[in-house]
Amino acid sequence: MEMKKGELLNLTVLVTSKCSLKCKMCATYAPYCSRSENYSYEHLTKSVARFFENIDRVGMFTISGGEPLLHPQLSELVDFFSTYIDRIELFEIFTNGTIVPTDRLLESLKFSSKVDVLVDNYGPELSRKVPEIANAFSASGIKHRIRKYYGDDTHLGGWIDVSDFTEKHRTEKENENIFKRCSFSTTWKNLIILIDGTVHMCYVNSRLLDFVPDKPDEYINLLDDSLSDSEIKEKIFNLRNRKFLTYCSHCNGFCEDSKRYTYPEQL
Ligand code: SF4
Repeated sequence: MEMKKGELLNLTVLVTSKCSLKCKMCATYAPYCSRSENYSYEHLTKSVARFFENIDRVGMFTISGGEPLLHPQLSELVDFFSTYIDRIELFEIFTNGTIVPTDRLLESLKFSSKVDVLVDNYGPELSRKVPEIANAFSASGIKHRIRKYYGDDTHLGGWIDVSDFTEKHRTEKENENIFKRCSFSTTWKNLIILIDGTVHMCYVNSRLLDFVPDKPDEYINLLDDSLSDSEIKEKIFNLRNRKFLTYCSHCNGFCEDSKRYTYPEQL
């Protein structure tokens, strides 16, 4: 599905590839990422600033990971991102129910009623701190929701296993068709993912997964000072309007009819 000019982009910023859990079906491939790292404050702030120099408004601005609360400068990052709040409709942060927010982070997150914290609950054995975390956000008056990722009523019907990356020997048309059915061209058709200064449109990329070939025309390096503002803007919209990515040829996609799993299996 094509993104139309004038539609709002959603920006998800991965602040770390480190995680306190090892979910086999992690959508951002944290346990598989060979570069397990907190992305630098300098790269994150410079690239977000560059993004907003070129894009006027964002629908959802989401802080994700890995587990964002593992980043030692998360509060400072929230303070920096908050300066763009007038150009953001909803400011989300994901967390996996294992780490209680510090007082400093709670203070930082109070800056706007647009803040919405999504506490993902992977069950009492994994997300052990959910009640404590929910209490901390309630006591600070910070809006939060708990999403259940196990058992009955699992969020979005359950986990999807997108880990079979064998060559599928598809034609170009078949690659287009798998992409058309994938959530990255339907539900998330306006999504741009920022990883350590580079923007992507899907988590199956060479920045997170070593075996995915590096295709410089399938991401944009916002830290590259040789790119002009107009080039960046055009490249972002061109990226979002691709018919498929090279590696769709090896992937079954996050599709509406993909098999669902209701237990967050750990590696
Ligand atoms: S690589 Fe897979 S998950 Fe990414 S857009 Fe293509 S089909 Fe979807």
